[in-house]
Amino acid sequence: MKAPAKGGTPKRTATPKKPGTANSNPSTEDGFRKFFEDSLKDIYWAEKALTKALPKMAKKATSKELTLAINEHLSVTQNQVKRLEQVFELIGKKATAKKCEAMAGLIKEAEEIMEETQHGDVRDAGIIAAAQKVEHYEIATYGTLCSFAKTLGETEAGHLLAETLAEEKDCDLKLTEIAESSVNEMAAY
Ligand code: FE
Ligand code: FE
Ligand code: FE
Repeated sequence: MKAPAKGGTPKRTATPKKPGTANSNPSTEDGFRKFFEDSLKDIYWAEKALTKALPKMAKKATSKELTLAINEHLSVTQNQVKRLEQVFELIGKKATAKKCEAMAGLIKEAEEIMEETQHGDVRDAGIIAAAQKVEHYEIATYGTLCSFAKTLGETEAGHLLAETLAEEKDCDLKLTEIAESSVNEMAAY
């Protein structure tokens, strides 16, 4: 990035807007649509990565309730991958995955937690913590994607994305419940 000239305010280089075209600029809408599509590719990669990460987390968990919840969310996630493929189809694009650095990092953090904790309650508490970070990333992403779909007039795609958003929220609540009803207490004492 170019540094602003010393002692002065940086010059604005944007071309002046033509009156009455501020919200109907086709290049702006194209950019927004492209950003929507790129975000879909990002979460498509993330969901696929989770279908590989979740079984490892379930395997390392001790609590039966936690193992069950993770395995349940695994099948939900596999369905979310298919749902995203439907979304791509609805918007007339080929389903493509683009590496999500955030999810790669969250999965790496989960792996580190599992390595650094001993099998049992503390590891379970760590797995829940890591899983909830994943769910929160997904909630933020799908929340955004729903709004974008609505704005772009992609109503049907928006409904599908809202279904996934609800599933991620359910999973997050379920994990809180497991942590607070048993795992945290057992990890602490
Ligand atoms: Fe998901
Ligand atoms: Fe991402
Ligand atoms: Fe999820």
